[in-house]
Amino acid sequence: MASIPQKPFLAGSLREDLAAWCVKECTAKFRANQIAEWLYRHDVLNPMEMKNLPLPLRGALAADFLAPGSSIAESAPAPDGTEKLLIRLHDGETVEMVLIPGREERLTFCLSTQVGCPVGCLFCASGRDGLIRNLAAGEILEEFLLGSSRAGRRPDSIVFMGIGEGLMNFHELSKALHVLTSPDYVGMSPRRITVSTSGYVPGILKLAELGKEFTLAISLHAPDDETRARIIPDKVRYPIAEIMAAADRYLETAGRMVTIEYTLLAGVNDSHEAAVKLARLARIHHAKVNLIPYNATGSRFQRPARETIEAFEKTIFDAGAHVTLRTERGSESSAACGQLRRSAKYGKHNSQENGK
Ligand code: SAH
Ligand code: SF4
Repeated sequence: MASIPQKPFLAGSLREDLAAWCVKECTAKFRANQIAEWLYRHDVLNPMEMKNLPLPLRGALAADFLAPGSSIAESAPAPDGTEKLLIRLHDGETVEMVLIPGREERLTFCLSTQVGCPVGCLFCASGRDGLIRNLAAGEILEEFLLGSSRAGRRPDSIVFMGIGEGLMNFHELSKALHVLTSPDYVGMSPRRITVSTSGYVPGILKLAELGKEFTLAISLHAPDDETRARIIPDKVRYPIAEIMAAADRYLETAGRMVTIEYTLLAGVNDSHEAAVKLARLARIHHAKVNLIPYNATGSRFQRPARETIEAFEKTIFDAGAHVTLRTERGSESSAACGQLRRSAKYGKHNSQENGK
């Protein structure tokens, strides 16, 4: 239930779609390849910039497709070098993406997959109004293209950790993943793309069936179902045993070690016992643990004290599991997902609170 625009998105168009359009326009089919080259080799989305096309054809492309449907409505640069962009979609809804520079000039894009989120984790700003709509594959690709033109280059990696539960928008996400990874299109390595999920088991299994080496991150947030129930509402919460069985399946089919993401919430999931149990789970399932200290969003949760966070990390490390602590890039620009959208005057569904 993506909002269906009157025209198709040019971003995400496959060569066969473009060839069919050329036939309709009574123009040679090799033009389809030229258009695809502009889109997927040069990251150019505006038909008027597709210099080797005759002018009337550029005009026809611009008239028949949304190119682009989205635009950058706001940007929030942070002193740590990250830049969060508020993207306004063709129907006025908004999502966020973040440009995250890393070591050795590496660049990561954090992309959204839905407007709002149906899961509604209690600490997260994205799910507070529920799901508004899915993004179309073309809109996900427009985030990529807008980000690339903003940065003046392509990212080295992509994480689907923006707004939304991408695996509950599998059809559109998988189309976008195909275009991003196919050598005929953008051609990124699947290993450089992380799909993050709150543990939506049917989606994990479908991603496994694609048989590609995407990096899978599972937001577990608790080592037992009782604690997890205090963080994630019942409606889309799967039992940990089922989630970890799906993670095993993913490891078998994709051959990729899974990451367990764990947002640390003071007094809820940050005890020594929780760390011991989490380390055990990670070892049994050959998973890495990535700890994310909670970034305040106006929820009733709090970030644990630094010593608690460090002790939690050390317990996992000492228990022999692989653990990392997410550096707090972007917290100055309200980097926790959904916050910029909620605070923006542009959001169609923004509320008065700004997530702080
Ligand atoms: N819906 C997917 C992907 C988007 S959220 C998922 O839940 O995995 C990406 C990550 O950001 C998740 O691990 C989530 O727990 C984390 N996150 C969201 N809001 C946060 C906050 N306020 N503080 C810390 N981590 C947060
Ligand atoms: Fe949705 Fe992920 Fe936020 Fe949970 S953490 S509400 S699944 S975006």
